[in-house]
Amino acid sequence: MKGPFCYPDNFLRLLGTGGARFTMLKQIRKTGGIWFTYGGLNGVIDPGPGSLYHMCSSVPALDPHELRAIILTHRHLDHSTDLNVAAEAMTGGGFEKQGLVLLPDDSAGGPNPVLLRYIAQKVGGVMIAEDGKRVDLGMGVTAEPVFHIHHGVNCFGYIFRKEGLRTWGVISDTRPLDHLAERYSECSLVTLNVTFPNKKPRLDHMSAEDAGELLQKLHPEKAVITHMGVIMIEAGPEKYAKMISTEKTKVIAGRDGMVIDLDTLKAYAEAEAQAPCCTFVPTEE
Ligand SMILES: [Zn+2]
Ligand SMILES: [Zn+2]
Repeated sequence: MKGPFCYPDNFLRLLGTGGARFTMLKQIRKTGGIWFTYGGLNGVIDPGPGSLYHMCSSVPALDPHELRAIILTHRHLDHSTDLNVAAEAMTGGGFEKQGLVLLPDDSAGGPNPVLLRYIAQKVGGVMIAEDGKRVDLGMGVTAEPVFHIHHGVNCFGYIFRKEGLRTWGVISDTRPLDHLAERYSECSLVTLNVTFPNKKPRLDHMSAEDAGELLQKLHPEKAVITHMGVIMIEAGPEKYAKMISTEKTKVIAGRDGMVIDLDTLKAYAEAEAQAPCCTFVPTEE
């Protein structure tokens, strides 16, 4: 809660809904990843280009100094460029050794780590994602990495849990995989990286068609499409969201700046999220 504006107690804010090379390079949609406030813990997932700027310029403000978890699904540029500056902000410019960075091993180490070594020394801890191994993020919140397959890099989605709160998950860049429906089955809400409308089996990304097939087996109450490529954006994500919704799952097309309440699962457009509390009305009702 800040000033005359307020966020829900538990929420996601989409600091960008763009994905893949050309959406990113032209900034057709923002690419700042997902901010979450959940069970008192603030984190960001996949802080791509512009992430720090979009935190600082959000209305109401999202203070990157309040971050205690920075999580990467994989090392690709559209997911990772602001990792180091976000970590610098989390640690108060390097003066406060605090907060966790959770990421795949080829993002943290190897010949070309995206987490710079001197930054890794400043944060409270660096955790390497391992399939199925829950990581304690603090405040009773855990993140469970889920193995993805994505163009030769190590990539994970995550499931977030805290006792007494809804479980939610992030399905990142991946080819369609059988284990996703089972692994994410506890989630009330998932975000889905849907890069393009139609199947492209030679690419390790999910299309809207693939996402639709997944939702026939996985039944979250709500699914949010993000990480959209140029063709997806031009084709009209709202149309596809409606198309792949099921009796059990309402799918919404993410919008930059959108806020999703993790208790009620209601989504608020950016303009609504900037309005004073008393006019904070969900976008769908
Ligand atoms: Zn990507
Ligand atoms: Zn990628």
